[in-house]
Amino acid sequence: MRHLPRVLIVEDEPAIAELIAINLRHNGLSPTYVEDGEKAQIEIDAILPDVILLDWMLPGQSGIYWARKWRNDVRTKTVPILFLTAKSEEIDKVAGLDAGADDYITKPFSTQELMARIRSVLRRRAPQQAEDSVSIGNLIIDGATHRVSWQGAPVKMGPTEFKLLNFLMHHTERVHSRSQLLDKVWGDHIFIEERTVDVHIKRLREALGDAGNMIETVRGVGYRFTQHPSN
Ligand code: CA
Repeated sequence: MRHLPRVLIVEDEPAIAELIAINLRHNGLSPTYVEDGEKAQIEIDAILPDVILLDWMLPGQSGIYWARKWRNDVRTKTVPILFLTAKSEEIDKVAGLDAGADDYITKPFSTQELMARIRSVLRRRAPQQAEDSVSIGNLIIDGATHRVSWQGAPVKMGPTEFKLLNFLMHHTERVHSRSQLLDKVWGDHIFIEERTVDVHIKRLREALGDAGNMIETVRGVGYRFTQHPSN
């Protein structure tokens, strides 16, 4: 099951909000819209979005106020905020970026332009992957070339399994809980069920074959990569 990035649209003009939501949905995102910051706060408290599209002029407190608030709140400080501004408000873009917005887009905008901005802020939020090479026993991973080899032979695996192995081989002999792995491998504001981790661990072990036993399950806690497997 693939997680669809959640986009919270905060926009008081229903026609615009609805149009954006339809376009985002067609482009494989999961949008929700609200008409002001107070309602956005309620949404955020319930489910953390992956991106916030924030209108500048809102009833009640302005977009600037909310951007600043969310940037200073531990729960929301890494959620990308993209400002939606009308042409006449262009002069305030600097203020928007100062308040902690990641980017802004001027209305009217095309769907392609909006999608490109959203993809760009989502990419920037993906966790950093180590790019050096690590070898443990006969298992070698190279973060820069995305290659894995076991006893000199290449090992094929999917991109998520690669990222998982890359993280584990850089943090060996420690037990990582499923939620820690989600934070470090998938990114901390991405909502994925914890059992997704189990699915990818299983695939990773299968890909590794004989080397798969270096990934130990620590019952009730999580997973550990060890050079000295007990089984
Ligand atoms: Ca408005």
